[in-house]
Amino acid sequence: MATYIVLLGPPGVGKGTQAEILAKQTGLAHISSGDLFRESIKNQTELGKLAQSYMHKGELVPDDVTIAMVKDRIFRPDCKLGAILDGFPRTPVQADAIRAMLNEVGEDINVVPFITAPDEILIERLSGRWTCRANGHIYHSVNNPPKKEGICDIDGSELYQRDDDKVETVKKRLRVYMEQTSPLIACYRDRGLLVEIKGDQAIFKVTEDLIAALKKS
Ligand code: AMP
Repeated sequence: MATYIVLLGPPGVGKGTQAEILAKQTGLAHISSGDLFRESIKNQTELGKLAQSYMHKGELVPDDVTIAMVKDRIFRPDCKLGAILDGFPRTPVQADAIRAMLNEVGEDINVVPFITAPDEILIERLSGRWTCRANGHIYHSVNNPPKKEGICDIDGSELYQRDDDKVETVKKRLRVYMEQTSPLIACYRDRGLLVEIKGDQAIFKVTEDLIAALKKS
């Protein structure tokens, strides 16, 4: 049996940072739908062009293309132990799709850590966020600065500010989260999979809470 973890929570709550840490500690693959889209944009594929037209407005990319992209990723060899899903599912249609995909191979989602933080913190985090151009490693100008300004500690590539981390787009993303993604909270709670985690703590503390939640699942 493989392990599948869905990290749920608003943009900026630390899903990407935590998924990266957990992936290293557990050997599970880190699948970030946002990173997959950014990769397609960098490679100027048709999917990238389509995704960019939604992403720069802070809107969700349509379900059908998003689901197809994740389906193509989730059964690759590096996912043999399972995966940490970061930013997917984001709608009820996507939640049904991932469940069906996993059920088809006799698997299911094991646990859904739901990371929370007040909106002011999310806005402050996203507007101070710096992302590595090569591999999407995440930094924050105050809370988690790189050793050398503008350079990724891990792979030495340039750090940039995401176009959709501008304050106005961030506010739109938070609204979209409330309208389209937050209904998933109740669905996963009803299935007994939800574990609430406070995201407004030190990074290592959030990781500890997540590890404890995984052990219990
Ligand atoms: P993220 O990196 O998770 O903050 O995602 C950045 C942007 O990519 C989102 O604002 C959406 O435009 C798009 N995106 C990422 N994941 C999804 C998803 N599961 N469904 C639809 N759009 C997504």
